[in-house]
Amino acid sequence: MLARCTWCGCVFAARQSGGSPQQFCSAAHRRAFWQAASAYAAWLLRTNQITIEAIKVHSSSAGAAPEAQKPIQDRLVLPQ
Ligand SMILES: [Zn+2]
Repeated sequence: MLARCTWCGCVFAARQSGGSPQQFCSAAHRRAFWQAASAYAAWLLRTNQITIEAIKVHSSSAGAAPEAQKPIQDRLVLPQ
Protein backbone atom coordinates (compact mmCIF):
# COMPACT_ATOMS: atom_id res chain seq x y z
CA MET A 1 0.00 0.00 0.00
CA LEU A 2 1.33 3.43 -0.91
CA ALA A 3 1.44 6.24 1.65
CA ARG A 4 2.77 9.80 1.75
CA CYS A 5 5.52 10.77 4.19
CA THR A 6 4.31 13.43 6.65
CA TRP A 7 7.81 14.95 6.77
CA CYS A 8 9.03 15.09 3.15
CA GLY A 9 5.86 14.39 1.19
CA CYS A 10 7.37 11.57 -0.84
CA VAL A 11 5.28 8.52 -1.71
CA PHE A 12 6.52 5.24 -0.23
CA ALA A 13 5.41 1.63 0.12
CA ALA A 14 4.02 1.28 3.65
CA ARG A 15 4.69 -1.94 5.54
CA GLN A 16 1.98 -4.56 5.45
CA SER A 17 2.60 -5.91 8.95
CA GLY A 18 -0.33 -4.17 10.58
CA GLY A 19 -0.25 -1.87 13.56
CA SER A 20 -0.76 1.86 13.27
CA PRO A 21 -0.57 3.38 9.79
CA GLN A 22 3.02 4.20 8.79
CA GLN A 23 3.38 7.98 8.46
CA PHE A 24 7.04 8.36 7.50
CA CYS A 25 9.25 7.00 4.72
CA SER A 26 12.13 6.39 7.15
CA ALA A 27 13.10 6.38 10.83
CA ALA A 28 15.19 9.51 10.14
CA HIS A 29 12.11 11.40 8.94
CA ARG A 30 10.04 10.16 11.90
CA ARG A 31 12.75 11.49 14.25
CA ALA A 32 13.01 14.77 12.31
CA PHE A 33 9.27 15.27 12.59
CA TRP A 34 9.11 14.60 16.33
CA GLN A 35 12.17 16.75 17.06
CA ALA A 36 10.73 19.65 15.04
CA ALA A 37 7.27 19.17 16.52
CA SER A 38 8.61 19.21 20.08
CA ALA A 39 10.73 22.30 19.36
CA TYR A 40 7.67 23.99 17.88
CA ALA A 41 5.54 23.05 20.89
CA ALA A 42 8.27 24.36 23.21
CA TRP A 43 8.34 27.65 21.26
CA LEU A 44 4.54 27.96 21.44
CA LEU A 45 4.73 27.38 25.19
CA ARG A 46 7.62 29.85 25.65
CA THR A 47 5.78 32.55 23.72
CA ASN A 48 2.58 31.97 25.71
CA GLN A 49 0.57 30.81 22.71
CA ILE A 50 -0.40 27.55 24.41
CA THR A 51 -0.45 26.27 27.99
CA ILE A 52 1.36 23.26 29.44
CA GLU A 53 -2.09 21.73 29.99
CA ALA A 54 -2.62 21.82 26.22
CA ILE A 55 0.48 19.65 25.83
CA LYS A 56 -0.24 17.35 28.77
CA VAL A 57 -3.68 16.47 27.46
CA HIS A 58 -1.93 14.65 24.60
CA SER A 59 0.68 12.88 26.71
CA SER A 60 -1.49 9.84 27.44
CA SER A 61 -3.55 9.84 24.24
CA ALA A 62 -3.78 6.83 21.97
CA GLY A 63 -1.42 8.56 19.57
CA ALA A 64 1.35 8.93 22.11
CA ALA A 65 1.19 5.49 23.67
CA PRO A 66 2.68 3.44 20.78
CA GLU A 67 5.65 5.82 20.61
CA ALA A 68 6.60 4.97 24.19
CA GLN A 69 6.75 1.26 23.31
CA LYS A 70 9.31 1.69 20.54
CA PRO A 71 13.03 1.02 21.02
CA ILE A 72 14.87 3.79 22.89
CA GLN A 73 16.70 5.12 19.82
CA ASP A 74 13.36 5.84 18.12
CA ARG A 75 11.90 7.81 20.98
CA LEU A 76 11.42 11.53 20.99
CA VAL A 77 14.57 13.39 21.99
CA LEU A 78 13.79 16.72 23.57
CA PRO A 79 16.08 19.61 22.69
CA GLN A 80 18.26 20.73 25.60
ZN1 LIG B 1 10.16 11.23 4.27
